[in-house]
Amino acid sequence: MTVPFVDLKSLHREIEDELQQVFCRVLNSSAFVLGPEVKQFEKEFAEYTGTAHCVAVNTGTAALHLVLASLGVGPGDEVITVPHTFIATAEAISAVGARPVFVDIDETSFTMDPKLLEAVITTRTRAIIPVHLYGQTADMDPILEIANRHDIPVIEDACQAHGAEYKGRKAGSLGIAGCFSFYPGKNLGACGEGGAVTTNDAALARRIEMWRDHGSTKKYEHAFPGLNLRMEGLQGGILSVKLKYLDRWNSQRREAAAQYAEILADSTGITLPTEMADCHHVYHLYVIQADNREQLREQLTSAGIESGLHYPIPLHLQEAYRCLNYQRGDFPVSERVASRILSLPMYPGISTDAVERVASELLEGCHVG
Ligand SMILES: *Cc1c(COP(=O)(O)O)cnc(C)c1O
Repeated sequence: MTVPFVDLKSLHREIEDELQQVFCRVLNSSAFVLGPEVKQFEKEFAEYTGTAHCVAVNTGTAALHLVLASLGVGPGDEVITVPHTFIATAEAISAVGARPVFVDIDETSFTMDPKLLEAVITTRTRAIIPVHLYGQTADMDPILEIANRHDIPVIEDACQAHGAEYKGRKAGSLGIAGCFSFYPGKNLGACGEGGAVTTNDAALARRIEMWRDHGSTKKYEHAFPGLNLRMEGLQGGILSVKLKYLDRWNSQRREAAAQYAEILADSTGITLPTEMADCHHVYHLYVIQADNREQLREQLTSAGIESGLHYPIPLHLQEAYRCLNYQRGDFPVSERVASRILSLPMYPGISTDAVERVASELLEGCHVG
């Protein structure tokens, strides 16, 4: 029995009729860019996240970029984030000409360690971007408390956290803005690229709406030079269909996570992911840690089980960010975690047999190892 890392084909087969209706509708209306399907999705996603506004864009990277740009962050400014994330978080900071400043993560939650935050704030800090990694929110209260004391806005990178909650509030509603990706493999994924910003700040939402569409106030009237980062009509319609299933799909992810945890509870040498107090984890990824990660990974591969590494090289050690002059040893938790993590197959609808198969292969691996 082979086990894929994700299975989008089966997921889409379940709702094929509804998706095909969207394709036909958009083909007939020719509303290929923004338009009524996108507007409707924006309304629904704002409601889902418990925010007043949602602005749909073409990627999660664009969502992060446009929030920073709309807050006026630019050259000479610093933006704090974590080195243990997908590079897009830092790229958005680079895209506006600002400097990414890293702060290490907490080893249990894999998210920003609030205890280390205050020490890296300077007079140039213009924003803080905690990342809700793997489907779990960062520890937002202490982060917001420190940020508020310094009058610095907090932008959530919620690209892996659609439907995740912190103290009963949805990811995307906790900071000044939440940034989402609808890349196909995310918990809520388009059939192509997609992204969105959620916020309660009407002026910020309006500015992002203009930014994504050439700084337009209306057709061919431009208040400032923006960019073209609009969402496609087709993706808006598809996301509206899939949003209805998000909670069910997240529950299925949580069930699979619980099954992994139950079977692997007695394993030696494997650290399981932890759902932190006050958090509702939506398991975008199910990430274990082990000293013999490479050996476990090879064993899974030879048994026909796919796995992943999210992410193998922390950003401060990437060639792309050599210019920041960080050294190995600067973020010891991120570095240790990067060498020990292993992402197991996780997707809505993964069978109990598949989870059992992966887990028993790992149990064998840790006894041999
Ligand atoms: C996917 C992702 C992004 C970027 O989203 P795209 O839609 O691929 O541009 C940003 N941050 C994190 C943490 C992500 O997982």
